[in-house]
Amino acid sequence: MKSKILIIGACGQIGSELTFKLRELYGDSNVIASDISYSNLDIVNSGIFEIVDAQNYASIKVCVEKYKIDTVYLMAAMLSATGEKYPMKAWDLNMESLFHVLNLARAKFIKKVFWPSSIAVFGSTTPKEYTPQYTIMEPSTVYGITKQVGERWCEYYHNKYGVDVRSLRYPGIISWKTLPGGGTTDYAVEIYHEAIKNKSYNCFLKEGTELPMMYMDDAIKATVDVMMASKENVKIRSSYNLAAISFTPKQIAESIKKHIPEFKITYAPDYRQDIANSWPKSINDSYARQDWKWKHLFNLENITQEMLMQLNKNYSSALNKSK
Ligand code: NAD
Repeated sequence: MKSKILIIGACGQIGSELTFKLRELYGDSNVIASDISYSNLDIVNSGIFEIVDAQNYASIKVCVEKYKIDTVYLMAAMLSATGEKYPMKAWDLNMESLFHVLNLARAKFIKKVFWPSSIAVFGSTTPKEYTPQYTIMEPSTVYGITKQVGERWCEYYHNKYGVDVRSLRYPGIISWKTLPGGGTTDYAVEIYHEAIKNKSYNCFLKEGTELPMMYMDDAIKATVDVMMASKENVKIRSSYNLAAISFTPKQIAESIKKHIPEFKITYAPDYRQDIANSWPKSINDSYARQDWKWKHLFNLENITQEMLMQLNKNYSSALNKSK
């Protein structure tokens, strides 16, 4: 029997692309997209869509029972930069939603859970280069604290109650379909939009700020791979380190200049610089590569090529429609 899947937070940057991929794999009628509002019409109009509030246990349970859901991907969260503006809201959303889904699994309403963690679990006392899976973790943002605590609870629910929960520490995710939702790595998406629209970009991080990043296709592939892996191969039940590439704003600007020679970047670091300074520069993801054979496909050159090509198409077709 095919899985019946619920995606919570399906209108967001990652949830939206995950929805399309899972529909391709499991069939439209087996993948229910949900969010707190109708904020992404491509998702709302592309298949079954329900309003579900991740902070309301009953709201999730009604949907789980209505569609006989066995697997939940919990993608709703408040991200790092927005979380620093609204710390208590970030804490409430990120923790309550996780407990609701873990408790649904503990009560056997669902069988399997995916919950994303982040490189934000690390802090300024963590080794910055090739950060190991097991290391010092003293996150300094409220977002990082929620992810660190969430990881502990995932492992606890797995060990104590046998909950099949799987998790990845995503790096910054780069994509062209949906705009990012308030993270510190958002610059690496904005820069491509601005390169096409204005041939310039004013970056909110300093030129040498190196951070771990990944193209959306790789992030979706990792998510599908870890969820499809056999139970025995998913040996880490807190969250797996996951990596593809690392680069600085200066390096991404140079890769854009190869396609748009007149492109100019300027720098005006803001409060997000402190967040970025507390995160690793690169990640050692050897456990993911060993346990369930993770392999990334996209490097910076491929990403720049793809992003510029796809966004160029989008902006030209929007221009043609407005004529
Ligand atoms: P996003 O902000 O783009 O999307 C989050 C979605 O959750 C939005 O559509 C929002 O409407 C929805 N949402 C908010 N409150 C809700 C509620 N109460 N009930 C239901 N839905 C609600 O986020 P994203 O970038 O797609 O991130 C998805 C997950 O991946 C998050 O857990 C995030 O922490 C993690 N992550 C993302 C990145 C990244 O670079 N995008 C990096 C590391 C980890």
